[in-house]
Amino acid sequence: MKPLTDTHCHLSLDQFTGELDPILKRARAAGVGRLVIPGIDIETSRRAVEIAEGLAGIYASVGVHPHNASSYSDSARDRLRELARSPAVVAVGEIGLDYYRDHSPRDQQVAALIDQLSLARELELPVIIHNREAQEELFEVLLEWAPTVAGTKKGVLHAFSGTRASAETAVSSGFFIGVAGPLTYPSAEELRQTIQDLPQDRLLLETDSPYLPPQPHRGQRNEPAYLPLIAEELGRLTGGEIDKVIAYTSRNASYLFGWLNGSANSILS
Ligand SMILES: [Zn+2]
Repeated sequence: MKPLTDTHCHLSLDQFTGELDPILKRARAAGVGRLVIPGIDIETSRRAVEIAEGLAGIYASVGVHPHNASSYSDSARDRLRELARSPAVVAVGEIGLDYYRDHSPRDQQVAALIDQLSLARELELPVIIHNREAQEELFEVLLEWAPTVAGTKKGVLHAFSGTRASAETAVSSGFFIGVAGPLTYPSAEELRQTIQDLPQDRLLLETDSPYLPPQPHRGQRNEPAYLPLIAEELGRLTGGEIDKVIAYTSRNASYLFGWLNGSANSILS
């Protein structure tokens, strides 16, 4: 069986400090072979790169999350560019808009997003996008940016929870859809219907650890070892065997993040 890929887990956050070894041990036991750690500010981006450089199969993404957009500046961009020189960096993110919590003023969120999208274009890296209750404005920005980037792998809408129409627009514009724990929630009928109809070559699996734990772990801290629960739900929805789900979601991740096939770059090897 091919290893699973957790395309979004925040192992560089304080919640995991000092616990990397047991977390990775449980991830391995669950068949998770590759992980992407997205930063949410400069320090967690730096730490993500540090972790990824130390271990085969772990990769980093660097970026400033919309919550922290008020800390974004020219010097932050320079620092991200510098961090992205590491071969362990496979994307720019987590970037985006969050109009639910509004931790940073909206005009600053938009400015930080636009600037980091140009950085991604300059670095020829895909983006990892966060969206909460900002769909209209986010799509306006993304759909203007996407055609300025060559190729069919612009990035991923992580922990996707939007409408069917927005998923279809994103996919046809070159984005992947990140499937996370909420797929397993009883209330997520609409999301399940949307996901099951999307093209399989555009779906990625992620935990978003420590957030969004799948059933039956709700209320606990999420971790990469829970990823098979999301893969199983996706398999159940699409009438496919779990092995097939693992194979195509890992293949999609390899394509988006530019990994060569083979098991060498795996935490399992
Ligand atoms: Zn995240």
